[in-house]
Amino acid sequence: QVVTRFAPSPTGYLHIGGARTALFNWLYAQHTRGKMLLRIEDTDRERSTEAATAAIIDGLTWLGLTWEGEAVSQFQRAARHREVAEELVRLGKAYYAYETPAELDAMREAARAQGLPPRYNGYWRDRDASEAPKGLSGAIRIKVPRDGETVVDDLVQGEVRFPNKDLDDFIILRSDGVPTYMHAVVVDDHDMGVTHIIRGDDHLTNAARQTAIYRAMNWQVPKMAHIPLIHGADGAKLSKRHGALGVEAYRAMGYLPEALLNYLARLGWSHGDDEVMSIEQMVSWFDIVDVNKGAARFDFAKLEALNGVHMRGMDDTALTKVFFETLPHLPNGEALALQLDEKKKAKALQAMPGLKERAKTLVELADSLYFIAADRPLQLDEKAASLLDADAKAVLKGVLGHFHALNEWTAETTEAAVRAYAETAGVKLGKVAQPLRAALTGRSTSPGVFDVLAVLGRDESLARIADQID
Ligand code: GLU
Repeated sequence: QVVTRFAPSPTGYLHIGGARTALFNWLYAQHTRGKMLLRIEDTDRERSTEAATAAIIDGLTWLGLTWEGEAVSQFQRAARHREVAEELVRLGKAYYAYETPAELDAMREAARAQGLPPRYNGYWRDRDASEAPKGLSGAIRIKVPRDGETVVDDLVQGEVRFPNKDLDDFIILRSDGVPTYMHAVVVDDHDMGVTHIIRGDDHLTNAARQTAIYRAMNWQVPKMAHIPLIHGADGAKLSKRHGALGVEAYRAMGYLPEALLNYLARLGWSHGDDEVMSIEQMVSWFDIVDVNKGAARFDFAKLEALNGVHMRGMDDTALTKVFFETLPHLPNGEALALQLDEKKKAKALQAMPGLKERAKTLVELADSLYFIAADRPLQLDEKAASLLDADAKAVLKGVLGHFHALNEWTAETTEAAVRAYAETAGVKLGKVAQPLRAALTGRSTSPGVFDVLAVLGRDESLARIADQID
């Protein structure tokens, strides 16, 4: 059975690159009917926070990226990491080293002076324990083979070779007994039964070092897939401006989780020419070996267009439900939520077929609901107010007469009435529709004006028009 894991460090929100890593782990587990585990890599006590852990869990939950069992805290497993480090010393695969920080600095300087990469010179590697200085507790370093090379056989990157002479004897347990990140990851992945490590390709060199620990313990090395990082649309490393934000920022921008997942999946992976995919389709088509090696570029315009497609593809009831659930996360959403009583909510659902045709995000949808949320008398924006001059008011008066005569109030009947009036009065349809829209919505742009009339209903529509005539 395939076991993947998502292993974020809780030092900030769940950023968009992390979300994609989680998605690939989740998709691969789902595709193979395996499972994805969640490990919070909180070994760095200075930088890890509870709030970040909560934000990561909240982000994954919003995206629907589920994991099996409880989230594992790496910090809680420190005793086990220590045990394995000591075991490696017993096996003769690791050793205590007693350099002081100052001595290590000097060693690095010396290497640099010779034009070599700063690395540990292996001073304590073959020394007898009896030489250990009294009163100093040593750090544990792993013996990395001196010759040959370490090959990482990566499912995405192919065979990547690291000459062992470039990997020094790195620390696995610090002298204060705290395990290093490099070591903790290996022990945890082994103990958790992880079969596939899928993570960003910034961890590729770590993979070589980690392989040395697996080999020393005689543990099976999991399959690895180092996926390319996400870059900005201009090819530069992803920055905030490019979209390197937490997933909650994407929720606040009004993207649907399905659309964001669809977009993220296609950053570095594709299935023929399919652009729009449901989660079920992604699960059935995804394979880690199909992920590209090249860096993917993040493009907001594409995400937005894709989101619009997903919104239009949803049925109105489902979209309305998601919309109201998301509303508190949208800018000014709380205020809008307070304005929308049950009656107005019903109107929103009724208006949804027209509204979703125009909106690419839930934020745009919220914006287009203003005419339902607003209460009489409407506050007109500047453009709308300027549309309602004396001529326009006369037009409104005329059309009002035709509206009063209607028995049935629908988009069709109101349209027929407006057309009839325009014909009798000898004015163009637009000359009627524009002031109508201004009076009904307070703005100069809105969903189709006949849809607006139908959604608002007879009484509210007539009252809003009358408000502007007097
Ligand atoms: N905690 C690491 C990170 O957030 C991931 C380590 C791993 O996946 O092995 O970058």
